[in-house]
Amino acid sequence: MAEESAFRENGADFTSDFISDFIAADLKSGRFGYVHTRFPPEPNGWLHIGHCKAFYIDFSMAERFKGKCNLRFDDTNPEKEDVSYVEAIKRDVKWMGYDWEDREYYASDYYEYLYELAVKIIRKGHAYVDDLTDEEMSEYRGTAVADKNNITNTPPGRNSPYRDRIIEENLDLLARMRAGEFPDGAKTLRAKIDMAHPNLLLRDPVMYRIRRETHYRTGNKWCIYPMYDFQHPLSDAREGITHSLCSLEYEIHRPLYEWFIREAEVFPSRQIEFARLNITHTVLSKRWLLKLVQEKYVSGWDDPRMPTIAGLRRRGYTPEAIRSFISQIGVAKTDSMVDIAFLEYCLREDLNKRSPRVMAVLRPLKLIIDNWDAADDELEAVNNPEDPSAGTRKLRFTRELWIEREDFEEVPPPKYFRLFPGNSVRLRYGYIVTCTGFDKDAAGSITAVHCTCDPETKGGNAPDNRKVKGTIHWLSAEDAVPIEVRIYDHLFAVERPMEVAPGKTFLDNINPNSLEIVSNAYGEKYLSAAAAGDRFQFERLGYFVRDPDTSAGGAPVFNKTVGLRDTWAKALSKIGQKTAQ
Ligand code: ATP
Ligand code: MG
Repeated sequence: MAEESAFRENGADFTSDFISDFIAADLKSGRFGYVHTRFPPEPNGWLHIGHCKAFYIDFSMAERFKGKCNLRFDDTNPEKEDVSYVEAIKRDVKWMGYDWEDREYYASDYYEYLYELAVKIIRKGHAYVDDLTDEEMSEYRGTAVADKNNITNTPPGRNSPYRDRIIEENLDLLARMRAGEFPDGAKTLRAKIDMAHPNLLLRDPVMYRIRRETHYRTGNKWCIYPMYDFQHPLSDAREGITHSLCSLEYEIHRPLYEWFIREAEVFPSRQIEFARLNITHTVLSKRWLLKLVQEKYVSGWDDPRMPTIAGLRRRGYTPEAIRSFISQIGVAKTDSMVDIAFLEYCLREDLNKRSPRVMAVLRPLKLIIDNWDAADDELEAVNNPEDPSAGTRKLRFTRELWIEREDFEEVPPPKYFRLFPGNSVRLRYGYIVTCTGFDKDAAGSITAVHCTCDPETKGGNAPDNRKVKGTIHWLSAEDAVPIEVRIYDHLFAVERPMEVAPGKTFLDNINPNSLEIVSNAYGEKYLSAAAAGDRFQFERLGYFVRDPDTSAGGAPVFNKTVGLRDTWAKALSKIGQKTAQ
């Protein structure tokens, strides 16, 4: 079972925490005298929960070793980047509770510094300007014959005919590239490493390319832009980063990271990789999330079905729940898939403690208490049984109520303890009522249920100790306010959306029923005063959050955050039983 393997792997990984072991060893050996990390997002999309894992590690390692953590925008791809992404990233990291203080940096601020280091490497005879086109370059490199899953085992490539240009010529050509003398793509600056290296990435990687793109910060000042593998280690070095923590796909880039640090003779930052976070039923890559946004599969980056921080926030997640999830899955060295039920379990644990309870009815059916001739009555309801300081509230009890359509059956199935003719139920916080009949319209659908109420049972206790098995929620029809409720299911119907048959894409795995809009629901009157982001437990239904939207008719919208039923806790107890045997 997926739950089981995720539990075992993560349980084991958490205890090891190899990153702090490495850092502690580096401090002990004197390799570094302090700890300084950085979180380096590229501003080309909104952050997702995978990024949370990355910055959780960056900030918590800094904290643990009394060091610092920078926020650095890795903005060297002008065609994809934008200031709106910078703003969204800062907002979301802050919301998660992390503070980079005044240490906000941009790789684009280092362009001059990076250029000078490129010149330095040319002067050492270790970089050259090449005239090969992109296609020729990959052919010379051997990319065409490379096995995509194993780029460290490809037959040797061939040297470019421009590889032996003399230093002066390379310096002159790079200056002219920068001055805009050549068209886009006509030339590149390449590191002179080894065209036969078993790791394809070390076969003379490109350091600069010519691109006439307007950068959101540097405008048109530059027409050459540095490549990631050249830029990243040198930006780390510039900030005195001791431990450059990143996800596992960069492991194969590490020799290059070290090569540039050595050749540029800069601060020796150390790269350490950890497992990427993957979660079932979703995708965690900005590239794929952007596609969902652009092709309108979702309403935007903050659609409550998105695994983005903004989507999770709008869905009703708390930063505490996300942090608890990340800390419990731990820091692993091998990639694994975490069951989304575990994330939901962490969320429920947190919401249970903090959410005020209210009643709401999603599919209303009228309940008429025929013998109710008293004036209105007022009942007292507990706001949060987990938190006595949350107090109580008054509920009005009237002759006409709303109940959930599914809490009445004309002919009850076996073990049905709710309302049916002749049966009694307890109305939450209120009275015991007994069903006496129901009304049907011409089409045969039930339009109202009739009951009598026993005035002696206020508070839910039967004086004659009568057994009443069912308790249902309800609303006073006079007091209830209309609300719209949005119920979500997984965005992808399958556990691993990126695993697709030939000819299919991950979009074919989209769950067509991931959003259900319930437009004629009702809630307690208190819900009309809820502000966007306020969270509640709707009794018996789950956890809900007030969305910023209102319905077409002006009713407040509530998103279902997560249900009450806990599949993960059940799975855990099963595993517990197994291991105990
Ligand atoms: P994406 O694939 O989503 O575009 P990315 O690596 O290109 O991710 P960046 O903005 O470059 O996005 O990532 C910033 C940091 O977040 C990097 O250090 C990267 O290692 C880390 N990161 C990205 N995705 C994950 C993930 N799923 N799990 C853990 N760390 C991640
Ligand atoms: Mg990236």
